[in-house]
Amino acid sequence: MRTVNPLTAVRNLGILAHVDAGKTTVTERILYLTGATHKRGEVHNGTTVTDFDPQERDRGITIFAAAVSCDWDGHRLNLIDTPGHVDFSDEVERSLRVLDGAVAVFDAVAGVEPQSESVWRRADRHGVPRIAFVNKLDRAGADLDAAVDSLRERLHTVPLVVQAPIGREDGFTGVVDLLRMRALVWPDGQGTYAEGSVPDGLREEALRRRRALEEAVAELHPAALEEFCERSALSEATLRSALRELTLSGGGVVVLCGSAYRNRGIEPLLEAVVDYLPSPLDVPAVREAADPAAPFAALVFKVNVTASGRLTHLRVYEGTIRKGDAVLDTRAGRTERIGRILRVQADRHVDVDAAVAGDIVAVAGVKSAAAGATLCAPGAPLVLEPPSAAAPVVFVA
Ligand code: GDP
Repeated sequence: MRTVNPLTAVRNLGILAHVDAGKTTVTERILYLTGATHKRGEVHNGTTVTDFDPQERDRGITIFAAAVSCDWDGHRLNLIDTPGHVDFSDEVERSLRVLDGAVAVFDAVAGVEPQSESVWRRADRHGVPRIAFVNKLDRAGADLDAAVDSLRERLHTVPLVVQAPIGREDGFTGVVDLLRMRALVWPDGQGTYAEGSVPDGLREEALRRRRALEEAVAELHPAALEEFCERSALSEATLRSALRELTLSGGGVVVLCGSAYRNRGIEPLLEAVVDYLPSPLDVPAVREAADPAAPFAALVFKVNVTASGRLTHLRVYEGTIRKGDAVLDTRAGRTERIGRILRVQADRHVDVDAAVAGDIVAVAGVKSAAAGATLCAPGAPLVLEPPSAAAPVVFVA
């Protein structure tokens, strides 16, 4: 039997985007690639898996944040879908409270748009580490460098571009991975890339971009600067660890690119999620509370009604929750019993016996708890307060 992933192999992440940038398509492609869905969802025919609410389908926008689990390369990814529309800012706020990291999706033609700015600033306030995915590189007028400039100018970040596109617009076929200096090309209609050496015509550009990446990293990261001064170059290993530290500290933002619609660039995006975004143990509130024997505490971030009944989606911040446990809803002052614990996958719910601090699950049997409520061990009542940038979650006794 498979053992439960250790928390170092968990990524609780959100996908943040302006409406239409391609968040739904990126999510679908991730679920498809990770095997969580077996048919490829398409946005235009209303069969996508994450947009399951009829109202949502009608409006063509993602209203309700859904959490979906999938496995990738020995890691569990809990994808917390966040609404891109400003009307649903409370939902955005709640989902930002439960994620450890995010992928911000941008349109390669439009670059940074007004809603991306407001979601970005909120993510800053919540101290959510991010990587960026510049999507739609296949579109006429797509321009990675212009999109990267808009990240720098409008979001005041330091973009750290780790890929170079191969081909433009309709002829966009893949990327050069600037860390490994390898070409990744997606044959039409396939989700997996063929890896090869950098095409001759692109070598000079790829070297120039690699150099620019090394210089930008050296400028931001003391250990990298030391190596850069000594060898006037940075190794792949140094780049990788410096990029991770810069992502976690918010000192810079790793930028990848692709075309979700054409299934190009999704696997490197997943590799970057695993490489650069934090596990729950990198988040102070969980690191300190990772003792599974500690009293249980969790934050409810979404409630919905599905074929499995009323589901209460929660992030466990402390201790362990087991099937049959009694929990106190501190806001309602009610004690409830956990009927089932479910891992929500794209096309099914999987029963689990327990969940520990850092994990995201849905529970059935809880009748009263609303989004924003704290569920905790009846003998150790507390309220999980909205996090500040400095301390992701504070416990108030
Ligand atoms: P969301 O509103 O951010 O969830 O965006 P969607 O995923 O619904 O995408 C908005 C529109 O852009 C849909 O018509 C998609 O088919 C289209 N789209 C998404 N990704 C790409 C892409 O990589 N290239 C192109 N050309 N279109 C895309």
